[in-house]
Amino acid sequence: MKILNFGSCNIDYVYSLDHIVEAGETEATERLDVFPGGKGLNQSIAIARAGGKVYHAGCVGFDGNMLTEVLEQSGVDVSFIKKTSEKNGHAIIQVSSDGENSIFLYPGSNHLITEDYIDSVLENFESGDIILLQNEINCLDLIVEKAYKKGMCIVLNPSPIDKNLDSVDFGHLTYIILNKIEAKAVSGCERLDLALAKIEEKYPDLKVVLTLGQKGSVFLDGQNEWRQAAFKVQAVDTTAAGDTFTGYFIAELSRGAEPQTALKTASLAAAISVSKMGAAPSIPWRDEVLEAYKTFSENSVDERADEARRKLDDYLDRNLKTAELRGLAEQLGYSAVYTGGYIKKLTGRTFSELLLDKRCTVAAKMILETDLSVGEIIAAVGYQNENFFRKAFRQKYGKNPLEYRKKGVK
Ligand code: ADP
Repeated sequence: MKILNFGSCNIDYVYSLDHIVEAGETEATERLDVFPGGKGLNQSIAIARAGGKVYHAGCVGFDGNMLTEVLEQSGVDVSFIKKTSEKNGHAIIQVSSDGENSIFLYPGSNHLITEDYIDSVLENFESGDIILLQNEINCLDLIVEKAYKKGMCIVLNPSPIDKNLDSVDFGHLTYIILNKIEAKAVSGCERLDLALAKIEEKYPDLKVVLTLGQKGSVFLDGQNEWRQAAFKVQAVDTTAAGDTFTGYFIAELSRGAEPQTALKTASLAAAISVSKMGAAPSIPWRDEVLEAYKTFSENSVDERADEARRKLDDYLDRNLKTAELRGLAEQLGYSAVYTGGYIKKLTGRTFSELLLDKRCTVAAKMILETDLSVGEIIAAVGYQNENFFRKAFRQKYGKNPLEYRKKGVK
């Protein structure tokens, strides 16, 4: 199984300045650093360093030789890259002395892809081969269409989000790998749990990999939901975390790994990249990742459980009247279905039982400490059905609310 990455190659010009230049102002720069960049280039490097056989396709400019060299040095096959006489796609990045930055991008060669070129590349691949795409090149919709017709396994990292994605048929993708912001944009839902549900509902056959930064990652394939904690690391620069993750995930899949294993190795590789400065230079080689398995540890289950318990308490405290499982899921960054199961596993009780218990506790306090009627208290803690609440209260305290007020707690 071959891997083709049809993607961007950028040159990042990083100018160090005293301050970001404002309209009408001219400032001499203190320093210029030139780096290879672009999501396509980073992801090809990540696949190659992960040990995957990857062919990069895309257009570079007359000034893009350093980019093909960097790709080759990592083991990427560059024979399909088209050299053009245009200026390479690049980013002009201003970095001020207090660390702020301002960036503009010129797509240049990255937007010179033509139908003939796509055909000439794709004819070297066949059904079952993997094609990886990001959203920094033109003709994305056409590439998806043609790769789909060939029966290729299409993986899209829909980054950056912009209107070019509107013409892409997501129903033709096999995998989508996206972060929290992209998941919300692709689904049109602000709440993450609803966003995932929406993507699954719209594209039932699509396998979704959601990355959640320090909170780890999730894999969903319609039937299963696997979660992977992030690895503990001193974060220095998160620039290429997503690209490293994507490259490693695909390389692992191509060597036949199960999605859970791919998720784990990708997370470890991404954590290593986060611990180093820079984009391409921070992407680790497979040996380093395998070595890191011995020393790196995941954010432990206990730590995650403690955090989830804290968030559950906090959520119920702040939303006693309106609390619902979906709201808690949003706080935890999980889907509602997963949250329901997780809370049950964590506390031995369902979310509804915990909410009822919390409402009873708060109501009991109000009964003793305020002059409000029992009806008012029941409404204040969020119940419309008084009888239901009274029954639950009696079960917890052994008496009804009025008796409780008279006798207090013995
Ligand atoms: P993107 O860079 O595309 O925004 P994320 O921020 O979600 O993507 O990061 C991708 C993956 O990198 C995460 O799922 C996680 O495995 C890893 N990662 C990101 N930030 C950290 C961090 N601070 N510590 C450890 N791992 C991290």
